[in-house]
Amino acid sequence: MCRHLGWLGDPVSVASLVSEPANGLLVQSYAPRRQKHGLMNADGWGVGFFSSDVPDGTPRRWRSATPLWGDASFASVAPALRGGCIVAAVRSASIGMPIEASASAPFTDGQWLLSHNGLVDRAALPLSPHAESTNDSALLAALIFDRGIDRLADTIAEVAAADPAARLNILAANGSRMVATTWGDTLSVLSRADGTVLASEPYDDDPRWRELPDRHLISVDGASDVELIPLKGP
Ligand code: GLN
Repeated sequence: MCRHLGWLGDPVSVASLVSEPANGLLVQSYAPRRQKHGLMNADGWGVGFFSSDVPDGTPRRWRSATPLWGDASFASVAPALRGGCIVAAVRSASIGMPIEASASAPFTDGQWLLSHNGLVDRAALPLSPHAESTNDSALLAALIFDRGIDRLADTIAEVAAADPAARLNILAANGSRMVATTWGDTLSVLSRADGTVLASEPYDDDPRWRELPDRHLISVDGASDVELIPLKGP
């Protein structure tokens, strides 16, 4: 189980979301507060962002297979990485899964960044030539990309039917839109004046954080419109 975070709004630095908040992903990598599965998230990390400095609009990523707290360069570079849309994650590898940078979220199809919190039986997932690694999250990301993000709710229902014990919290963003699912794990939203944060757990004790209900599709368009749609499933 991992922890992830998404931002859609005005350009902000990666550090302002990940390492500066009292309980940001950096602290969640060794002391998460709401994690139900796994103790810490030491098996890698990743940040992806859409920046106006990248003229073709494609997302850029920085991923690692080592603990975020031990990265010698992250604290120096993260304040200089800015974007109006950011997806970041710290990873706790499930038993038997490879620990390598390409197994860390966010995954991408070149347009979307996608992270998965959870666990799914790999036998329930089709093999895809687009999978970036052989862990469940990479296979699930490839399936979601192959089916299309617009069919995310159907894909979650299909995977949940094939593995009723699966936990399927997804977070994806493409620069102008952010979508997420809650299926077995926590997710909270913070609506700020300059944008919206979706996060596995709040990065601080701001009373405006709202916990989102399980088994929902969450869609954030523009900077502040948050829509919730119940998911169907077994
Ligand atoms: N099943 C995931 C993996 O090992 C666990 C990490 C997560 O929650 N994404 O890749």
